[in-house]
Amino acid sequence: MYRFNLDDNYRHKGLRKKLVELLKSKGITNESVLEAIGQVPRHFFFETAFTEHAYEDKAFQIGEGQTISQPFTVAYQTQLLEIARREKVLEVGTGSGYQAAVLAYLGARVFTIERHKKLYERARALLEAMHVHHVRHFYGDGFEGLPAYAPFDKILITAAVPEFPARLMEQLKIGGYLVMPFGTGDVQKMQRLTKIDDNKFEKEEFDDFKFVPMLKGKVY
Ligand code: SAH
Repeated sequence: MYRFNLDDNYRHKGLRKKLVELLKSKGITNESVLEAIGQVPRHFFFETAFTEHAYEDKAFQIGEGQTISQPFTVAYQTQLLEIARREKVLEVGTGSGYQAAVLAYLGARVFTIERHKKLYERARALLEAMHVHHVRHFYGDGFEGLPAYAPFDKILITAAVPEFPARLMEQLKIGGYLVMPFGTGDVQKMQRLTKIDDNKFEKEEFDDFKFVPMLKGKVY
């Protein structure tokens, strides 16, 4: 059993407002994305001892050697996805569940996969406790995607992708976007692939980011 402290008070709301202003000043323009960051309580995704860090624009440890992405990174990737309500979105790398909650806030039907059993279980329990609907959690290897639920309108990878993720590209709808940080070096290039046809993709490149690596297989 988990015990979550789901208290969201005026102080937290004030800190979120400031965070939204900061993200605007860093170049995030999409109003719905800014509203989502302003509404989803990021401190719920932190251990109680660390909630004071929740509204800094920083990545933070969530256990199992993994991190909750920096708010700027979440906003940046979400903005590139151009989410419309009811879209089917596959997220690889559930981690804390924060990004999944932001996508759900935007009205997406979210399918999220995590390879660490403990993180998968915790994020699932937390989003349930928060009454975040339309997020389905899966424990597995994101390289495989979720063929049974494909195709997806959008795919988001929140770990550094070492090679083109062929199975995921197959599971994308024609016209859909796949957003991922790509590369094996110290930093990765944010890329957006648009599926033009079954075997044809267009690639756009954006800024550099630092993600934890996308790894094969599951961890118990
Ligand atoms: N989206 C997360 C950020 C998580 S960091 C959040 O909002 O908190 C990246 C996550 O990807 C880690 O939890 C890591 O365990 C997971 N991951 C790495 N490789 C994976 C794979 N092949 N399949 C599924 N999850 C993976």
